[in-house]
Amino acid sequence: MRFAEVAAVWSDVEAASGRLEMAGHLAKLLAQVKKDEVKALTNLCQGILAPPYEGLELGLGEKLAEQAISIVSGRSAKELETHFNKSGDWGAVAEWALGKKKQMSLSAEELELNGVYASLVKLAKLSGSGSQEGKIKTLAELLNSASPLEAKYIVRFCVGKLRLGVQEPTILDALALLRVPKVKDKIAGFAPAPGGKRVPVEPKWNYEPEGKKEKELSTADSDASLEFVFTCIDTKSMESASFEDGAKIEIVLEGLAPLRDITVTKIRPVKDRADYYRAVLMGFKKSVRAPLERAFNLSSDLAHVAELALFDYAKVEKFQIRLFSPVRPALAERLSAPADILEKIGPCAAEGKYDGFRLQVHKDGERVELYSRKLEKVTHAFPEVVEAARKLPAKHLIFEGEALAYSKKEKRYYSFQTTIQRKRKHGVAQMAEELPLHLFAFDLLYLDGVDWAVQPYESRRAALEKLVAGQERIEASSIKQVKSGPELENFFEHCLKEGLEGIIAKDPSAPYTAGARDWAWIKLKKSYGALADTLDVVIVGYYRGEGARTGFGFGGLLVAVRNEQSGNLQTVARVGSGFTEEEMVELEKTLSAIKRKTKPAELESSIEPDFWVEPKYVCTVSADEISLSPQHTAGQANGKGYALRFPRLMQMREDKGPEQCTTVAEVERIYSLQKNRGK
Ligand code: ATP
Repeated sequence: MRFAEVAAVWSDVEAASGRLEMAGHLAKLLAQVKKDEVKALTNLCQGILAPPYEGLELGLGEKLAEQAISIVSGRSAKELETHFNKSGDWGAVAEWALGKKKQMSLSAEELELNGVYASLVKLAKLSGSGSQEGKIKTLAELLNSASPLEAKYIVRFCVGKLRLGVQEPTILDALALLRVPKVKDKIAGFAPAPGGKRVPVEPKWNYEPEGKKEKELSTADSDASLEFVFTCIDTKSMESASFEDGAKIEIVLEGLAPLRDITVTKIRPVKDRADYYRAVLMGFKKSVRAPLERAFNLSSDLAHVAELALFDYAKVEKFQIRLFSPVRPALAERLSAPADILEKIGPCAAEGKYDGFRLQVHKDGERVELYSRKLEKVTHAFPEVVEAARKLPAKHLIFEGEALAYSKKEKRYYSFQTTIQRKRKHGVAQMAEELPLHLFAFDLLYLDGVDWAVQPYESRRAALEKLVAGQERIEASSIKQVKSGPELENFFEHCLKEGLEGIIAKDPSAPYTAGARDWAWIKLKKSYGALADTLDVVIVGYYRGEGARTGFGFGGLLVAVRNEQSGNLQTVARVGSGFTEEEMVELEKTLSAIKRKTKPAELESSIEPDFWVEPKYVCTVSADEISLSPQHTAGQANGKGYALRFPRLMQMREDKGPEQCTTVAEVERIYSLQKNRGK
């Protein structure tokens, strides 16, 4: 595939107004991609070279990009900077400069997608002395063959600001869109309820009554509906089946697993053709998307899932957990009262909620890798945990736990502030000696050929306890079986006294819910104001210091949560308290390095801070309550959005990226819990 085609579609994606429209454009690219190009395409579209756990990051400095543009375009640094000061976008500078190239290149060749990808990987791997020159040269070579539009995206990619707004869910949508036509051709019948008697049908994709021009079958704009016309092969079974509006049906597909849980909104006879029916089915694309999403949740490897989806689909449906391909973490729902938890899931197991680093441990014999909550490989940072995992009696293993500083002798848990000192690149061995971490194991996903993730929690826990029994540095999390609200409350109080953050109640019958915030786990945390939980928000802007804060150049943050429907960020608070003096100095330094001239495209905001920043950092904030305010855009309806009252910074969340921040749906849940609390 030529890179020019990719750049042209990216330009459409950038102009698109919603996630589904973006997915539609990407689907066009994915439909044409060759098998050996899938990896390049899926990664580049997300602005990355590889999934986070491979640790291959580009992040070329803007100065280097400027020099490369200057070499290729013949424009002086001064000219380029003047242009940059107007647009704040080195991509736009490259597009302008190459559009007005002074010298013509002799060696220019058309760029291929895989060639561009290979050059970018090469750039990312260049290090050591002389690497600066090597980087400038490699980028200049690429730009030499690029059209102005291609150059715009290459440069943006290199400086880490591709800004397409394409994230993993958008690519999953695009893959699902591509599956729809294939499924359409294969519909062989409906069954009125899962497992019910099948009604065989023959799809008529092109029928349009009253002599209108034949038209392609339309999938409605909605993410989840399909409208089409079919004839009924066996009229009797059609008559006896009940296809009432709202009924759940299953679609029988030739040679594929049935699509379940499709809701019928209409199946009506077509007026002028007694033997034709028009059907509208809801939940259609969702069922197509579900197996893709599952495969992604089990592997976090979108390029691999895309390759299977496009070239070997049967393997998507049979997808299995793989060692060294981290599983996307299961997440907890929240409730604010022990009695509500019992009402929701009945008698359950309550575990202590430890406040440290979540680690997913993968082991194949002597090889051990550790993955963070963000799915980054963090093996190098925790050598004592690696050593302890090697000692476990298992050859092939995947399990999860929370690692924190802990004194076994005193049975004392250290605070997150203490544990976070272990987050460093240098002096790792010394820190591992001084502040060794203890791993509290809480879930088992895979053990010597057995996929435990699909087993109920009760069995997983029993196998996990057996696995870690008698180990020095790894032990199972504390647990109590509870049957009533007061029992759970007692355990919760006990955990708080011990220095834990709260409890997580676990449904004994639930499988491991990879990648989902689900009722399989429910967390109950110590009280933060009137809220059931703290929020993990993305910093999108900051304010200059005034009054006593003038000296720090920092006066507070503008923060946002993610709207999971649109994929956009929406503001929820201006945070002005909770900062120590050191934090203010540190924040000013960190944020001024990622300042931008304009509001990030993926952000909806009606407030303008003193400085916008790249949405990159996440911090935890608490507040007295959530109110509704016209100032903020989070979940805005009737002109009012959710807003935090008296928000304060608790800590930076380095283990979360902007994709893992709190969503609007979660804010809504915390808001409704707060209303119930007040009653
Ligand atoms: P939080 O900020 O509350 O830790 P989170 O978004 O990281 O939230 P949640 O799913 O809401 O994650 O809460 C579960 C988190 O609690 C896990 O990510 C894990 O790091 C931590 N944790 C501590 N103890 C346990 C435990 N016993 N079982 C499961 N998770 C635990």
